Amino acid sequence: MLFEHWIYSTAIAIIIGMIYYRFTRRDYSWIIIGCAYLPDLDLFTEIVLNKLGITLLVFGRHISHGDFHNIAFMFFFAILISLLLQTTGIKFRDSFVFSCIGFGAHLFEDALVYNPAYNFFWPVSNQNFGIGIIEYTNDWYGIANTEVLIVGLIAVIFCASIRTVYEGKGWVVRMIGVEYFVVQAKRVSGCVMRLPVE
Ligand SMILES: [Zn+2]
Repeated sequence: MLFEHWIYSTAIAIIIGMIYYRFTRRDYSWIIIGCAYLPDLDLFTEIVLNKLGITLLVFGRHISHGDFHNIAFMFFFAILISLLLQTTGIKFRDSFVFSCIGFGAHLFEDALVYNPAYNFFWPVSNQNFGIGIIEYTNDWYGIANTEVLIVGLIAVIFCASIRTVYEGKGWVVRMIGVEYFVVQAKRVSGCVMRLPVE
């Protein structure tokens, strides 16, 4: 499960965004897509720490793949992202919900194709869980499984169709956060313009 995370998270983001927008008139589903690869940061953390000359041992061992694939890191990252986005005007509650769903979507997708996958419920439980619906191999250019990818693409088309029927076409612009990013870009350029010139 590598490239497919992006596809499956997009399908989930479309539907979650639709439901959240229905009740709050706010849609930050781009956060879900932005979090699509967050748990896999555990692949690089040790390498980055090594480069910085930092030795970090957690429970007596180095950080390795799978260590971020649990609810403890889900909440940790969700709080971090929400505090960060709060400074740009997004309510903490909104980004917390979308970050948790984005991070959780990755865990669910891993569970779908691997069995056993990871100890998702750590620290509540140390047991490894997984569904493993197929014999997973990266047979699509080494970055995806063809069957999983095709099912994911069908899911995206299906979810996009449902949302278009329900909301019309306007959701695409909302979903990729065009309005939010334009405001942020203006804010940043405004700050740059105000910098004192020698
Ligand atoms: Zn993963």
